Amino acid sequence: MQTGESSDVETPTAGGYQALSEMRTRIAEAAQRAGRLPNSIALLAVSKGQTLGSIRRIVAHGQLAFGENYVQEALPKIAALPNLRLEWHFIGRLQANKTRDIAEQFSWVHSVDRLKLAERLSAQRPSELPALNCCIEINLNAEATKGGIEPGALSELVSGVRALPRLRLRGFMALPTPSSDPTVQRASFRIFREMVTPYVSTFDTLSMGTSTDFEAAIAEGATIVRIGTALFGARAE
Ligand SMILES: *Cc1c(COP(=O)(O)O)cnc(C)c1O
Repeated sequence: MQTGESSDVETPTAGGYQALSEMRTRIAEAAQRAGRLPNSIALLAVSKGQTLGSIRRIVAHGQLAFGENYVQEALPKIAALPNLRLEWHFIGRLQANKTRDIAEQFSWVHSVDRLKLAERLSAQRPSELPALNCCIEINLNAEATKGGIEPGALSELVSGVRALPRLRLRGFMALPTPSSDPTVQRASFRIFREMVTPYVSTFDTLSMGTSTDFEAAIAEGATIVRIGTALFGARAE
């Protein structure tokens, strides 16, 4: 994984403006098909495993929101891009020993799944920053290897997170088991949307959809799609 300056050579490869522009078009078209406004869907560029050069190339064309999964990888990138307009979203598994860095350096956390860690994030959020935007991640398919709270425990976590002073609960995140079948993709996103509908008065964000299933996610109401490889090309992992 290279994030150093040495890998920042500008080359006219895929993963630059063209991929960004195509992605914006595909999002707008998916929105239109769903009878939604294109600007009701935000594009989060998932930059894990990508170089600073790749990030800079799309910042130059107005992409300002970036998602990272690993704190150790994200911190040097955040430090190297001190552009106040960039918005960093933490989308990986939360660990207790990383909450301070997240609370200090990120604007959003999509992967809140335990009250203990949410409490740490709230306590550690610096007072000069606005409240940390959060989504609760739901483990839709009860996959042991994935993060997210099990659906049965959701309502308790929603109440707990809403009570925390330095977190602002914005909505919910899901990463369903990948499928290449658009019907199956939509069914998973629909189940997720219906699961969170009881909390509709408390959220404005559904963070769902990746490179392979964002169109199905938009059809089911996604407000943030998290796109990595379709924007940047393959990751170094
Ligand atoms: C890596 C990742 C993505 C992006 O996946 P792509 O297939 O590269 O678009 C989105 N969400 C989460 C939680 C991820 O870990």
